[in-house]
This record gives sequence, C-alpha cells and structure tokens, in this order.
Amino acid sequence: MSEQTGNLTFGIIKPDAVCGGKTGAIIQRVTDGGFKVRGMKLIHMTLQEAEGFYAVHRERPFFPELTTFMSSGPCVVLTLEKDGAVKAWRDLMGATDPAKADEGTIRKEFGGSLGENAVHGSDSEENAAIEISYFFSRLEIV
Ligand code: GDP
Repeated sequence: MSEQTGNLTFGIIKPDAVCGGKTGAIIQRVTDGGFKVRGMKLIHMTLQEAEGFYAVHRERPFFPELTTFMSSGPCVVLTLEKDGAVKAWRDLMGATDPAKADEGTIRKEFGGSLGENAVHGSDSEENAAIEISYFFSRLEIV
C-alpha cells in the first residue's frame, strides 16, 4: 500500500452520526466529493481501542470524554482515495467545531458539538497511513 498512500486518507463516521442515521447521507457526500471508497466497515471500538487510536491526545483534558464517546456506539471506518486526499477530506469535513465550520461542510451539516462532530479525518499523510493500518488489514483495502 505504501506506494499509494499519498492519495489515501482515513476517515471515521463517528457514533453520533451513525446512531443518528446519517451514515448514508455522509457516504453520499464522500462520493459526491470525488472520493473513491477503498475500504469501509462498521465497528464498535472498546474504550481501550479508542484510547489507542487517540493516544496522541492522551494528555489533553478532553481525552476521557473523547474516548468514552468514540467507544459509546458503532462507527464506520473509511479508507478514501483522491488526489490530495488528506487535505481534500479535511476541507470537506470542515472545522473541528461545527459552529465554526463553513457552509457546505459535513461537520456544519451533521455535527452537533465540538466533541460530537460527526466525522474524523487524518491530519497528515503519515498519520493517514498509521490510522488506516490501525483499522484495516491489507486484504480489506480494495
Ligand atoms: P480534528 O482533527 O478536527 O478532529 O480535531 P483535533 O485533532 O483537535 O481533536 C480530535 C477530536 O477531539 C475532535 O474531532 C473532537 O471530537 C475532539 N475534541 C477536540 N477538542 C475537544 C474539546 O474541547 N472537548 C471535547 N469533548 N472534545 C474535543
């Protein structure tokens, strides 16, 4: 996969959006945005799995709230392909706080709060590769 990681990013449809019945609408936004879905599955993380995924944030005050939320229900994890995928997906997601996100972004439309903001996206190509491999085996990327 390493030869292709420049065009790949990792995304999560978070529990607030999955439980709110927004998965289909968000996947539509993904494909309308020109992304090719290379990997997709429904998971329900344990608290320990969420803590491992967000380990970079472990010193932040919101870490317990974030990891409890991310393990509170099912998520859809995504491997997405597009030229410049990392930036393109973050642009489509919008700002972390839905109240500050631009019109037309996923977080503006579907996010409820700073913590429960509908989607995750990798912030660099390096982290995209790490995050994809945290959730997907090579056989699950098509
Ligand atoms: P992102 O890259 O836009 O997702 O933002 P960050 O990397 O800064 O934060 C990761 C995630 O932590 C965000 O998407 C939010 O779900 C959550 N988060 C960030 N700041 C806060 C906060 O102040 N309170 C809570 N509860 N969650 C937060």
